[in-house]
Amino acid sequence: MPDAASFFASLPLKPSTIETMKQLGYLEPTPIQEAALRDALAGRDLIAEAETGSGKTLVFALASLANLNRRRFAVQALVVCPTRELAEQVAAEIRRLSRAEQNTKTVVLCGGVPIKGQSANLAHGAHVAVGTPGRIMDHLERGTLSLDAVNTLVLDEADRMLDMGFYDDIGRIAESCPADRQTLLFSATYPEGIDELARRFQRDPLKVCAEKRRAQSAIDERAFPIRDEDRFETAARLLKAFSPERALVFCNTRQRCRELTAYLRDAGFAALELHGELEQKEREQTLARFAGRGATALVATDVASRGLDIEKLEAVLNADIPGDPEVYTHRIGRTARAGETGLALSLFDEGEAALIDRIEAARGTPVPRASIDEIESYGDEDRQPDPPPMGILMIYGGKRDKLRPADVLGALTGEASFPKEAVGKIQILDDVSYVAVDRSIAAEAERRLNEGKIKGRRVRVRALGM
Ligand code: ADP
Ligand code: MG
Repeated sequence: MPDAASFFASLPLKPSTIETMKQLGYLEPTPIQEAALRDALAGRDLIAEAETGSGKTLVFALASLANLNRRRFAVQALVVCPTRELAEQVAAEIRRLSRAEQNTKTVVLCGGVPIKGQSANLAHGAHVAVGTPGRIMDHLERGTLSLDAVNTLVLDEADRMLDMGFYDDIGRIAESCPADRQTLLFSATYPEGIDELARRFQRDPLKVCAEKRRAQSAIDERAFPIRDEDRFETAARLLKAFSPERALVFCNTRQRCRELTAYLRDAGFAALELHGELEQKEREQTLARFAGRGATALVATDVASRGLDIEKLEAVLNADIPGDPEVYTHRIGRTARAGETGLALSLFDEGEAALIDRIEAARGTPVPRASIDEIESYGDEDRQPDPPPMGILMIYGGKRDKLRPADVLGALTGEASFPKEAVGKIQILDDVSYVAVDRSIAAEAERRLNEGKIKGRRVRVRALGM
């Protein structure tokens, strides 16, 4: 590739930071980064206005980290965010960016969690604090947070904070920071209140806007280094933490496919396997169940999954890395269809690291690396997997019996008197049909259909996998 990293490399950043950014997939700046980063790193106050998804976090994250003295155990960067979710995301991003620096401590200060643990974290010495106005105020009032050493104050999503009525809290927080700090203000829109915030709390701010261009590829890729013996466990942990409604899990071999399916089932997932050893009928049923949202994970080999077209697939998980880079691209392309965003997780052990390098070389962009140590920021890995939302009924009648979707829908909503909303995907094949219904009514729907008639005829109906 040409010198794509030259912009980032031209900034006063440590080589280790640039290396980390490469690993995270930050090769070229987004417009707002190009417009704001140099001044942000030079210590200038900024008002940065750019739409959601334009990459504003990196600007203030790098500026915050650049100003830290890691030997000083005091909060030197404070990021104020409107919501807890956002604060957690921002903190996770700052932790990722600072992972090359052994001892950077970032704490999250938000409501919804006991204040004691946060106070203890602060007492142990944190360099960066990310939080919501209410909880930050709480800490200030209790004296558990000192802002005397802050040299970077960030107001993220300032427009939303104003909407939420945080103006006064922000004022008090800003006044608790030293006057000679740098203040960075980020906003997706530019409502009136922003000027007032800027006038009161910034010094000669530079205003930067950026044209629309989304930074984000529609696929959020993350590759996790693992040990081979932890592969199945890590797959289950990630699926629990991210909890996609449906995930397509790829394996290189049938053997692994079978073993992983069994493992995931034991872990409580509604997992199905799809590989070349299945009979046509089994394959059909498996696909009907997954397509109808009657299973949450489909564990498949590449060959078996050919031609599979499932809309709105939230996640793809590569349980192992394919030898052919094109297969990787093909696999992850199963998610994020039709303008949706999607998640592509990959597990690679030492031996597979070279395969990831090959994928990167082939397509010319990095596969962003992630660490299983960050799993907490993705979600709760201790939860029970969610059951699938739908149950799938198999009807022993199909095109040959001139059955149409409307007949199946009619039988469920008419005689059997279920609401239309409880009925999902209907698939009519040659000899059989599948209909998805809300899980909670699946057993009852099976019973009523078996007792009643579809299109004036009695047909046999069976609930699959219940
Ligand atoms: P904003 O805060 O402006 O809404 P974010 O900072 O959350 O946007 O960034 C949106 C997404 O874009 C994130 O997934 C982030 O990792 C990604 N991203 C940001 N900068 C870059 C870049 N230079 N190259 C590739 N991806 C980027
Ligand atoms: Mg943002």
